[in-house]
Amino acid sequence: MEIRDLTKEIRDKSIEYAKPKELDRLSTSWYQEDLLYSGKGKTIFLILPTPGCSWALGPSGGCTMCSYISDCYLKPIETPKIIELFEKELSKWDYAEDYKNGDKIAIKLFASGSFLNPEEVPKEARDYILQKLADSEEISEIVVESRPEYVKKEVLDEIFEIIGDKLFEISIGLETSNEETRLNKINKGFNNKTFEKAINTIKEAKEQYNIKSKGYIFVKPILLSEREAIDEAIETASYCEDIGVDRVSCCPATIHRGTLIERLWKRGSYNPPWIWSTIEVINTIRDNVKIPALMDTSGFGSRRGPYNCKKCNKELKYKIIDSNFDQSKIEHDCDCKKEWIAEVKFSDLNKSKTPTKHLPLY
Ligand code: SF4
Ligand SMILES: [Zn+2]
Repeated sequence: MEIRDLTKEIRDKSIEYAKPKELDRLSTSWYQEDLLYSGKGKTIFLILPTPGCSWALGPSGGCTMCSYISDCYLKPIETPKIIELFEKELSKWDYAEDYKNGDKIAIKLFASGSFLNPEEVPKEARDYILQKLADSEEISEIVVESRPEYVKKEVLDEIFEIIGDKLFEISIGLETSNEETRLNKINKGFNNKTFEKAINTIKEAKEQYNIKSKGYIFVKPILLSEREAIDEAIETASYCEDIGVDRVSCCPATIHRGTLIERLWKRGSYNPPWIWSTIEVINTIRDNVKIPALMDTSGFGSRRGPYNCKKCNKELKYKIIDSNFDQSKIEHDCDCKKEWIAEVKFSDLNKSKTPTKHLPLY
């Protein structure tokens, strides 16, 4: 339990030193091309103001790589305020014009935690938001994120009573199918059974509703070598397909402030994955599974994100983004590839994953 205690300690400290937030500045949004279920289209990405992820604020301290709560209010927020900020963000984008010109439009609602947890997004706010989206003829797909324990049939019934036949996707941060990694290295706090229960609830609801599921795969948790991280991500995608997840999205590690992953990184015991590793992951997943597989490129080429070399970082990032649209495989070469091959080959030998008891944690 050392990892959990440390995560809690680091989390408490970062909350203690967090500057008070201005509520009006906690929502944000952007609008860009994206791969929808209906093909290439446009998505409004909208971050809702919330008190923060209950898992991170609770006694567990949350996940070892995540600092979303540092962008949250940490106190309850009145429903009218959530609605006001949601409306403000939505009104920024002229998606109606794109819809008229033939584009398909989706919205991704991020709650920096679980949209389906009423303690994070009150039911009245959730109902209002969904009603507004149900009334919009332009928006055809709604995507939210949630931990699996909040995926319940009653909640799905409430949602679809409002949104009718619009497509609704629930994205769940599975991170890995390896229970040991998820529990003891990510501190995620749920097992495969809980995830499978949520996926089954979604699968059964498909008889009535236009519902989909997505699994997030975290590429390179702490205490895994580069090789192990690649293999686990690939295995996780196959596991997702086997149990009936509709699509997967790989999220390579970036170093968030105020997390255990940051502490290890600062002390030289952890590095985010090579971009080459993310390419091996996504190319192999696309060979192995039939469901769509996406690779997130946030933080690529930055000091705290996946990195190859100055020569190829940017080009590869754009190649990966393009490949997400047509699900093609990425081909590229660069001098730095040799270095990556050596690291992947020898990382298990030279112990680049440091055993827990030798970690420079304090
Ligand atoms: S990854 Fe998800 S569940 Fe974990 S702390 Fe972050 S928001 Fe909460
Ligand atoms: Zn390179």
